[in-house]
Amino acid sequence: MPLKSLLMIPGPTPVPEDVLRACARPMINHRGPEYMELQRELIAGLKQAFQTSGDVQIFPAAGTGGLEAAVVNVLSPGDRVVAVPTGAFGRRFAEIAEVYGASVHRVEVEWGHAADPGEIAAALRNEPDARALLLTHNETSTGVLHDIQGIAREARRVNPDILILVDGISGMLAADLQTDGWDLDVVIGGSQKAWMIPPGLTFLSVSERAWAAHRQARMPRFYFDFSRMKKSMETDQTPYTPALPQLFGLQVALRRILAEGLPASIRRHARMAAATRAAVQAMGLDLFAQEGAYSNALTAVTAPADFPARTIRGAMREKRGVVIAGGQGPIKEAIFRLGHLGYVDDNDVLAMLASLELTLSELGHPLPAELGAGVAAAQRVFSQP
Ligand SMILES: *Cc1c(COP(=O)(O)O)cnc(C)c1O
Repeated sequence: MPLKSLLMIPGPTPVPEDVLRACARPMINHRGPEYMELQRELIAGLKQAFQTSGDVQIFPAAGTGGLEAAVVNVLSPGDRVVAVPTGAFGRRFAEIAEVYGASVHRVEVEWGHAADPGEIAAALRNEPDARALLLTHNETSTGVLHDIQGIAREARRVNPDILILVDGISGMLAADLQTDGWDLDVVIGGSQKAWMIPPGLTFLSVSERAWAAHRQARMPRFYFDFSRMKKSMETDQTPYTPALPQLFGLQVALRRILAEGLPASIRRHARMAAATRAAVQAMGLDLFAQEGAYSNALTAVTAPADFPARTIRGAMREKRGVVIAGGQGPIKEAIFRLGHLGYVDDNDVLAMLASLELTLSELGHPLPAELGAGVAAAQRVFSQP
């Protein structure tokens, strides 16, 4: 039995001790002045992280609840929607819109490939009535970071009024995502990714264009209604009991995030991703994502032909206490995913990579160079200034 465990999956991610302690604080009155002050601080911090001067709302829910909130608040049954199912999460976003009665046109993207802004623009030219475009910033199932800036720019050229809804759940803070700068209407975040807090909160930005759409939108909604939330937020409260433990944690985590600063956070994630790629390639493994479309938050690795992902993951977990993720959907056993987001540093990445390299060697997978060459490749990346 390993003495310790190291959680290296793309969510839930490790939580710093001060955040965990904050989550364990005694409850307070959610209608009292202490709560109101907390909420004011959280919303101000989230706006900085979302790079927006517009509204940001918090709902107690998994990230999927945030995707659902985005859809039901700005659309009506029968609305034409263009979705880009880049993987398991992109598919889910499209499915939610369909379940609520949108008429969804899918721009298919091969899993592992980057969505092409030109193709999406072409689809929008064929769909002049499209009300919304559903995008995934960082597709966690494939380890691909999509060019939201480029896609949004091309989309607006074709349809200036289209609502752009972006699943930013696993990409925010690990890669740039500019809500206002890129003119995005609803961006969705989720607490258990780079925010360093436990699962259970989703965050949504709401642009002026989204508010205008909201006033006409007729999809059914109650709990996730933006207007109810906005009305309560005018008095620094929420319409229903907020998830106080996660909010206490978010306060501490946001202070950490803002102290590090967004550019530094993005650089840290980019470096950990570059080190991970260098190491797995030096171990003779192939990256699943197309070159140039790599995620900063996680690295998807194609499992060697003779070793299902399950075998590698099981051996790492049981012998070394290192927990990595498998694939999802149709590529469940074909890939494994190495998480490097949130409260994770160079040392964690080196430990994960050393464990992977040792595991491959112990399983009898022929390494192209001597044991340690993979870790050395990562060390070389980390040694660069
Ligand atoms: C984690 C994640 C979600 C949401 O997952 P939940 O399990 O609902 O919290 C959605 N989209 C992406 C891209 C994710 O990484």
